[in-house]
Amino acid sequence: MDIFKELGKYDYEQIVFMNDEETGLRAITCIHDTTLGPGLGGTRYWAYEKEEDAIKDALRLARGMTYKNAASGLPIGGAKTVILKDPNNDVNEEALFRAFGRFVEGLNGRYITAADVGTDTEKMDYIYQETNYVVGAGLKPGSSGNPSPSTAHGVYMGMKAAVKKAYGTDSLEERTIILEGFGKVGHVLAEKALAEGAKIYATDVFEGPREKAAALGCEVVQPDELFDVKADIYAPCALGGTINDASLEKMEAAGIKVIAGAANNQLEEPRHGDRVHEMGLVYAPDYIINSGGVIQVADEFNGGYDAERAKKSVENIYNQIEKVFDISERDGIPTYLAADKLAEERIQAVRKTKKVYVRDHKSILNR
Ligand code: NAD
Repeated sequence: MDIFKELGKYDYEQIVFMNDEETGLRAITCIHDTTLGPGLGGTRYWAYEKEEDAIKDALRLARGMTYKNAASGLPIGGAKTVILKDPNNDVNEEALFRAFGRFVEGLNGRYITAADVGTDTEKMDYIYQETNYVVGAGLKPGSSGNPSPSTAHGVYMGMKAAVKKAYGTDSLEERTIILEGFGKVGHVLAEKALAEGAKIYATDVFEGPREKAAALGCEVVQPDELFDVKADIYAPCALGGTINDASLEKMEAAGIKVIAGAANNQLEEPRHGDRVHEMGLVYAPDYIINSGGVIQVADEFNGGYDAERAKKSVENIYNQIEKVFDISERDGIPTYLAADKLAEERIQAVRKTKKVYVRDHKSILNR
């Protein structure tokens, strides 16, 4: 793998390889773009088959965070870490994550970490022993805690913006929703939509979440019967790739007009985003509608978490989704591409900001 060629492809700023023999730490932090602010992105702890897979994941995920953070209106850039998990060796996780925390401290604020797949509040607490450049650590004063309710609130707001685009009013009253995945985000989203008078057909692969859905007042359907009902909105809140050839055909038959849900990477392939556009469906792009969690954790940097302030920022997802629809209409492009454009336009605008002289520690005036 030609690393500089990879970095050049999407103008990555920096990739940092961290090694600590004593703790077994092998980590890669990729900082994609810090035009808007310090790079923020979670730390994934995963057993990769090959080192190259880990590097590719770090590059892909860091760039994704740049787009997500920019399109969400946050004053932060995009970055991500992967820590290579060794499935054959028992490691002391406290030592490993503290070693990682020291490396993060060494980046002096260019990178802020958070939980991701394979990491949690406990691991963020280990990191917090060594650096303040971490969000979502339980021990940290002003920490914001579990981000899922904010993600759900953002999806709810984004869904309303999409419903307005499709039906002229953003009320969910009497709208019918097919909700796939009744987990941390799905169940909170259901509560909000039910409270507004929506009807929900919910599904999950597990009995427990299905029972929870029924108890809340949803009608439960089996996963393979998901689109056998008539509905207005499809809310994918389970895994990615559920917008594909087969599901789009079923959505058409079910009468779906809006796709708005929490899952990451909802389009199986980009061409499915084009197809959604051709079919006239209103699609709220995944990385904007599900940005409530990152908006919540980023709020910690405004002098400690303030739930009311964060909620207001999360509600701005409604406006960001409307901006995406405007760009889509303006340029005649599908919304998944309009989302990228929203992010790119913001970064370009800030990049062009006039670089007036500011006195910093390396200034000739400070020598
Ligand atoms: P979760 O694991 O709590 O819930 C997912 C639910 O989906 C589980 O109950 C699972 O059983 C169910 N599921 C899995 N496969 C399914 C299938 N084929 N059909 C039906 N149900 C299925 O996860 P979550 O935190 O609620 O996140 C949901 C989605 O939103 C994920 O794709 C996640 O990456 C994304 N997301 C979550 C957050 C957050 O703050 N939690 C933030 C951004 C994005």
